Amino acid sequence: MNLLQTMQAGWLNWLLPSYCAGCNQKRAHPNHPLCYQCLSELPATDYEAQTGHALEQLFWGRIPLQSVTATWYLKPASSLQHCMHQLKYNHRPGIGVYLGSVAGKRMKQQNPSHHFDALIPLPLHPSKKRKRGYNQAERICQGFAQATGIPVWDQIVQRNQSTETQTRKDRAQRWNNMEGKFSLHNTKPAINKHLLLVDDVLTTGATLEACGQTLLQIPGVQLSLFTLAYTENR
Ligand SMILES: [Zn+2]
Repeated sequence: MNLLQTMQAGWLNWLLPSYCAGCNQKRAHPNHPLCYQCLSELPATDYEAQTGHALEQLFWGRIPLQSVTATWYLKPASSLQHCMHQLKYNHRPGIGVYLGSVAGKRMKQQNPSHHFDALIPLPLHPSKKRKRGYNQAERICQGFAQATGIPVWDQIVQRNQSTETQTRKDRAQRWNNMEGKFSLHNTKPAINKHLLLVDDVLTTGATLEACGQTLLQIPGVQLSLFTLAYTENR
């Protein structure tokens, strides 16, 4: 940013002050959407340096994974929940980039031995992406990549258009429908690589699992999962 741009950003911030995405009270810097207090009070899971924790256990017997990490716990009515809401429904993609970079730095500091060849954003349903204007998982990957230098591959797995409504199907049909939701494209660079599949929030993990099973069809792929937040009270 040159001097003129810095001055313009300063004036704009003075004219149209942006407020913290967590508490909506304190002023926040345009490039740092959370105030210092909200950022410092985010409840960290510290899963980066642990194995066999509750989040990994959630996937035992479901899908073979190298590691599962979520940076923070998502608690009801918390500043993080406000952030996630702003990110998904209030057109503030910068929150995803920012929190992705904070999470990437934490991952690097807490477990430097983690090695991922590429970040894969969980694809959003095409009609949802059109409506929202962006895929929040891609924005999280963008920030995570800035902090870690790991490349983002957003073309390898895509989400298919669903043709039938889920509610008319029985359980088995619904699962088959879920499995068919993702398709692979141009997978050659991913052969024998360790991929980190990324999303915003992990609740049951069903969609990440379905996408992960699709990615595991690529020969020699190792898979890990990462989300910004984890909803503990299922
Ligand atoms: Zn705040």
